[in-house]
Amino acid sequence: MFEVDRLSSGYGKLMVLHDISLSVAEREIVVILGANGAGKSTLLRTLSGLIAATGGSVRFDGEELLGKEAYRLARNGICHVPEGRGIFADQSVQDNLELGAFGWARGRRARIAAEIDQVYGLFPVLAERRHQRAGTLSGGQQQMVAIGRALMARPKLVLLDEPSLGLAPLVVTAIFDTIRRLRDSGLAILLVEQNAQAALSLADRAYVLSTGKIVMSGTATDLAANHQVQQSYLGGI
Ligand code: ATP
Repeated sequence: MFEVDRLSSGYGKLMVLHDISLSVAEREIVVILGANGAGKSTLLRTLSGLIAATGGSVRFDGEELLGKEAYRLARNGICHVPEGRGIFADQSVQDNLELGAFGWARGRRARIAAEIDQVYGLFPVLAERRHQRAGTLSGGQQQMVAIGRALMARPKLVLLDEPSLGLAPLVVTAIFDTIRRLRDSGLAILLVEQNAQAALSLADRAYVLSTGKIVMSGTATDLAANHQVQQSYLGGI
């Protein structure tokens, strides 16, 4: 469904990604592992059109997407939940979710309300706090708003950057359970995670990124059993 071929990108003269090739199939969770600075966030930013690629190809259902602006990619069904979540801290939970529907919502109040209710079904705690300013929520609740807002854009593929960052273990478990449910409901998910153990237990397949290159790939089970991956990303267990 989603195919990346020999993608390269960076910031001005600084090249960060070199010849990245990867794919994500329908209803698949794919995780990108890598050390700090390996280029994981840069990869997601390039795939969602936030920074321009310098070469390669990104195809979604056969259509070339490279060079399209981020809002067009969102309309094509690719939604990015950035590291740090990027929610509007001064807006209410409800307003944040409504903003996610920006691309399709014009004049469709009833439809927006129905889809916001679906998000509240997934995250009941947000329903209780719908009028609260998003910036005053806990870290886990803010992550739920960020995921909920992405879902409001009606994505087919969600790019998730470090959803577990700074969250307590129980909250991480809840967020990962949600990611699993989203996959089961038909979404494809490309996940960047430092929490390699949890991510591999959730994912179908994984790629290892090192200084901007893919150096390993395979099923999550195979990579979890790989000695090098264990030493580098799983604390040598
Ligand atoms: P982390 O796990 O620490 O978030 P990462 O794997 O996501 O790391 P990136 O944030 O993609 O890595 O960074 C890759 C490289 O690109 C780093 O050398 C970083 O310094 C550089 N970089 C990231 N953002 C920018 C930017 N806005 N301008 C210039 N260089 C950047």
